[in-house]
Amino acid sequence: MGTGGFPGIRPLLWPLFKHFFPPACPLCGDTFPIDYSNVFCADCLTGFKPLPDAHCPLCSLPFAGTFNSSHFCGRCIQQPPTYAKVYAVGLYDQSLRRAIHQFKFNRQVGLDRSLGVLLEQRVDSDLKIDLVVPVPLHRKRLQQRSYNQALLLAREFARIRKLPMAKNLLIKGHETESQQGLSAKERVKNLQGAFNLQGTVPGGTILLIDDVMTTGATVEACSRVLVEGGATKVYVAVIGRAA
Ligand SMILES: [Zn+2]
Ligand SMILES: [Zn+2]
Repeated sequence: MGTGGFPGIRPLLWPLFKHFFPPACPLCGDTFPIDYSNVFCADCLTGFKPLPDAHCPLCSLPFAGTFNSSHFCGRCIQQPPTYAKVYAVGLYDQSLRRAIHQFKFNRQVGLDRSLGVLLEQRVDSDLKIDLVVPVPLHRKRLQQRSYNQALLLAREFARIRKLPMAKNLLIKGHETESQQGLSAKERVKNLQGAFNLQGTVPGGTILLIDDVMTTGATVEACSRVLVEGGATKVYVAVIGRAA
């Protein structure tokens, strides 16, 4: 018998707990059927669109069309990214977009945990990771929002895999203009010098975690700082990959 989204409850107390607080989908609030073991209801899970088979094997950019091909995208060919690969739970679209918005701006109980579980399921279980690092928010943005959604995801991932997480290894030194509405080139320029290290990067493989990836300028800037600081390899894991 699983304890659904409440892994801290002791097995003996679980039936009683479930009677008073029946587990519900953290996105739509529908009560889960008895012994349901997923972290979202079936309807919401159906609404999360996976990446199409045709996507860039490096940056996970989805390709238009239905052909099944694993060629690199133009951007990765022109300027190979510093990170080794991007794992994405699905397309930043429809239900997944709604879930991320709820999580980011209106933190709903259970969403960080449930999205963290999906993220953990998405990353190859045999990938050797030495350290989990969240993409940081600038202090000002953190004060506005009161939490960093990437940190909550990273914390959940690290908890499930029993890995160390470096919360403050990477910091956002200066606040940048919002990336929204900027072209890919402008985004890269906007982020120049934005991320810094606080402390020493241990050698080895780092998994960098963020909620959404659009052009990849943010994860590229962070990966570069980590590799220049001594990381052997950086992998990226995000919930939503924008087309
Ligand atoms: Zn639901
Ligand atoms: Zn690519």
